[in-house]
Amino acid sequence: MSRTDLSKRTFLRTAALLAADTLLTRNLALGGEPKSSPSNQKVILVIFGGVRRAETFSPDGLENIPHLARDLMPQSLFYMHARNDGITSHFNATSSIFTGTWQRVDDWGKLAPTAPTLFEYFRKQLGAGQGDVWVVASNKALTKMIGASAVSIYGSAFGANVVFPKQLLITAVMKAIWSGQSRNMGDRHRVQAQLEAMLMDNNYEGLGWSVFKEADRLDADVHATMQEAISQFVYNERSTTGDELTFWMSREIMRRFAPTLLVVIYSDVEVAHFGSYSLHLAGISNADRLTYQLWEEAQKNSDYRGRTTMVVMPEFGRDPDGSTTNGFLNHRSNDDSCRMPWMIILGAAVDRPKMIEQPVAQIDLCPSLARLLGCQAHEAQGRRLGDLRA
Ligand SMILES: [Zn+2]
Repeated sequence: MSRTDLSKRTFLRTAALLAADTLLTRNLALGGEPKSSPSNQKVILVIFGGVRRAETFSPDGLENIPHLARDLMPQSLFYMHARNDGITSHFNATSSIFTGTWQRVDDWGKLAPTAPTLFEYFRKQLGAGQGDVWVVASNKALTKMIGASAVSIYGSAFGANVVFPKQLLITAVMKAIWSGQSRNMGDRHRVQAQLEAMLMDNNYEGLGWSVFKEADRLDADVHATMQEAISQFVYNERSTTGDELTFWMSREIMRRFAPTLLVVIYSDVEVAHFGSYSLHLAGISNADRLTYQLWEEAQKNSDYRGRTTMVVMPEFGRDPDGSTTNGFLNHRSNDDSCRMPWMIILGAAVDRPKMIEQPVAQIDLCPSLARLLGCQAHEAQGRRLGDLRA
C-alpha cells in the first residue's frame, strides 16, 4: 500500500469516527437508546446505484463482483429478476423500495414519499427508537426526506436517522479549517480550492452538496486527530471515494448503535453519468468489496451474528449499449437493461440457497422485511416474497 493510500485510509477512518461521534452525541441528546430493540432480527439492506446485468451477473460481468458471485450468492436466495416498474431516478427508486409502493415524487427529494416507509411501520408499531433505524448514503440525489413519509399518522417522528457521511465530513473539514487551528493551513487558497473540488466532485446528478447545520459540531476528543488527518488529506489526497467513507461510517454505526434496520446506499457506480466506463466498473468492484466487508462485520459483531438478514440490490440497471440515451451513462430506458436488476437475500431469513427465476418486484421487499421484523406494511402494494422465512 502506498503512502498516499495509507494516508487516505487514515483520513477516511478518522473522518468516519468523527462523524459517528457527532451523531452519537446528538442521538443521546435526543434520548436515543443504543443497542436495545423490540425485534430480535436485524436487517441490513445494501443498495447500489444503477448497475446493469451485463457488468454484474453475466458471464463477462462476474469478474467485477467476485465477492457477490463467489462468497454471497452461493448462500443466498438469488432473485434473478427483481423488477423496477417505477420511475428510474434515484429518489423515486429508493422511496419505492422503502415504501413498497411505486413512488412518483420529486426526482431530487424535495418531497417526502407519499406512503409510509418500512422505518415508520417498524418504529411506530413496535415502539422502536430512532437509534434503531439508520440510512447511510453516498448518493447525492437523495435528501433527508428519504427517511420518512408525508403520511400524517406516521412521518418524521417515526423516521430513520439519515446520514450522508461526505456531507458531515465536509462540514467538519470546513469548520476545522476556518477556525484557523489546523496545522499546515498557511496556504488557505490551496485548501479552499481542494475543498471546492471536493464539493463539486462527482457532481454527476447536477446537484451540489448541501451541508447540514446539525452536523456542524466537532467533538473535542477527536479534534486533534481530525486536524492531523485534515492536513494529510489536504496535502496528499487526490480523490476520495464516497462509498469507502459510507462503509466506515456504517460499520461504526453498527458497532455503536447496533440498529435493527440499517440501509447502506453505495453510489460510486454513478460516476457512469460522467461517461467513464472504467470508473463505473471500479465503482462496481468497490461496492462488491464494501458489501462483503459489511457482511463480514455482521458475522463478527455479536449484536448481529446469527440473526441478521442482508439484502443486496441495485436501484435499477442502466440503459443498453447503442440506445439513444447513451448506454451505460444513464438509466432512463424502458427496457429490461434498465428495469430488471437482480436481488440477493442471505442470512437468518434464508433456509436454503435457491435461484429464483420467476420475476419479483422491488416493492415486494418492504412487506417481506416488515414481516421479518414483526410489523405490517399495510399500505405496501408489493407481495411478500414466499421464500423468506417469516
Ligand atoms: Zn444516476
